[in-house]
Amino acid sequence: MVMTSSLSDDGIEAMRAVMREPGRTLLATDFDGVLSPIVDDPQTATALPAAITALGRAAQCLGQVAVITGRPARQAVELGGLDQARGLDELIVLGQYGVERWDAATGEYQVPPEPRAIADVEAALLTVLEQAGHPQARIEHKGRALAVHTRTLDDADAAFEALRGPVTALADEHGLKVEPGKLVLEIRPSGTDKGDALKALAADARARTVIYAGDDLGDIPAFEAVRELRAAGLNALSIYSLSSEESAVRSLSDLVVDGPEGFARWLARLADSLDVRANAFAHGG
Ligand SMILES: [Mg+2]
Repeated sequence: MVMTSSLSDDGIEAMRAVMREPGRTLLATDFDGVLSPIVDDPQTATALPAAITALGRAAQCLGQVAVITGRPARQAVELGGLDQARGLDELIVLGQYGVERWDAATGEYQVPPEPRAIADVEAALLTVLEQAGHPQARIEHKGRALAVHTRTLDDADAAFEALRGPVTALADEHGLKVEPGKLVLEIRPSGTDKGDALKALAADARARTVIYAGDDLGDIPAFEAVRELRAAGLNALSIYSLSSEESAVRSLSDLVVDGPEGFARWLARLADSLDVRANAFAHGG
């Protein structure tokens, strides 16, 4: 049985603020493991239709809705069908942990050039995997990042641990950093994380309430940003989308939902509440 949590006191306060001032609320969410179930081949991930529908409904009332992902922005837009989704015509997608941006309002992508160090590491990576005894680990080129996946290997956990050191050493050599995830080591330039991305979005949107949903180690900076924003006087809520593989994020969250299905249900309830509120105002209630 999946154990989910009830809302923390700070979370209750934040939800009251959302209902009071939805137009001053930023709702930001990770893609994989939150809108989209985790799959063996990341190229085949798709967003849950129920999650996208509910996100589009909620977006009608909220100040800003955004997706913040480690994926290239274009890939998240395509896999999520985010350029076709009803109600998401003001959506912002921040890709590569905030380095790339797509605006639904204009359809434009802002994608800076790939760092040279990524190509250099890619050229050396297979040799490092071979020397560590796991040449079958899958290398994914993600534009400004490289990912080494051990998910499809028989000894996935052992391979992950065996590769962690050598891959980190290679990244260090080229001035890059390694972000460990669920059976994946992601190599990318330092200086960008989901926490910086979330804080910048909150400032741009002049948000008084911020909600962030994530599921993985790469989301920890965003969960920490939620705490910082709260300390700075905003209402803020972090939601952990429960996964069987990663629980280190859980202790930082205000609410635990049961994976992407649970998050889709939570979004639908939020959209329902916002509809009720909008109707009450429409009828002078
Ligand atoms: Mg994720």
